Amino acid sequence: PMSITDPTEEHRICVCVRKRPLNKQELLRKECDVITIPSKCVLLMHEPKQKVDLTKYLDTQAFRFDFSFDEFSSNEMVYRFTARPLVETIFEGGKATCFAYGQTGSGKTHTMGGDFSGRAQNASKGIYAFASQDVFLLLNQPKYRNQNLEVYVTFFEIYNGKVFDLLNKKAKLRVLEDGKQQVQVVGLQEKKVSSAEDVIRMIEMGSACRTSGQTFANACSSRSHACFQILLRRRGKQLGKFSFVDLAGNERGADTSSADRQTRMEGAEINKSLLALKECIRALGQNKSHTPFRESKLTQVLRDSFIGINSRTCMIAMISPGMSSCEYTLNTLRYADRVK
Ligand code: ADP
Ligand code: MG
Repeated sequence: PMSITDPTEEHRICVCVRKRPLNKQELLRKECDVITIPSKCVLLMHEPKQKVDLTKYLDTQAFRFDFSFDEFSSNEMVYRFTARPLVETIFEGGKATCFAYGQTGSGKTHTMGGDFSGRAQNASKGIYAFASQDVFLLLNQPKYRNQNLEVYVTFFEIYNGKVFDLLNKKAKLRVLEDGKQQVQVVGLQEKKVSSAEDVIRMIEMGSACRTSGQTFANACSSRSHACFQILLRRRGKQLGKFSFVDLAGNERGADTSSADRQTRMEGAEINKSLLALKECIRALGQNKSHTPFRESKLTQVLRDSFIGINSRTCMIAMISPGMSSCEYTLNTLRYADRVK
């Protein structure tokens, strides 16, 4: 069992990197691992001079993050240092967010734990599940037990600037902003849950919905942002909210020169939302008064999580270790580096 104590010190923005192991195909191709993690905070990337030349390294770039997780770290370990310190925030009336950023195939969905396709036995536990467990653990602590707290979850997808409800057959939803700048996703299903097992069932349902009707599940999910939220309510009023966002593959933002118009438009939308996200997190970290949340649907929907004194965010940048992913890995590291 995990301890409830916070392993990290107080901070509003935490940026981490997780490297996945080389996969079977990469090993078969005898790909080089271009990432070294010398300490838990520092990561080195060896950038090859030419993609075909496996021996010559141009230089080594060092990046410093709050935490760097190597290929041997488990989902539980990653959870413990990223989302776990933020769970209590929502019991104190705050907003927490956790983003999984990176190239398609780098491990975003694996880390978040949304790779359920209706067959739970094949799914490994990820951040969604660990966080849900801890929410119910905290809920039963003497401090919170008698506060009439209720837990709800939502699960939706943002694809090409449109919102679809994953807990309601992918119903297309409208996003409204009222005069007081409150943003509302109209009709989004909020399901009441009374245990971590209940939550897992909702994640299974939503994840299966996310990939249903797709011949190539990853092809579609790589172009959309999936947002899973845990809402805490007291007597009908929202107390806190934890949003977990499995972002679209950042390489899709480069699709703007594709021959296919639809792909180009999707690429432009992804690019726009990832740029807006970076600016909104930076604004939160620097306590700026202006947050450019209207720049994309993603940041608009998460508006209340980027403002307020009790909002905290962590970003986990996922990277593939292989030589062939080198260019996108460098993009990912630069993006993560600039978030803070
Ligand atoms: P993404 O969501 O970023 O496109 P996935 O999470 O689907 O990537 O990961 C791609 C593949 O790599 C999956 O088969 C997944 O199980 C595997 N994988 C990702 N990260 C890890 C890891 N840390 N350890 C082992 N396998 C991993
Ligand atoms: Mg994925």
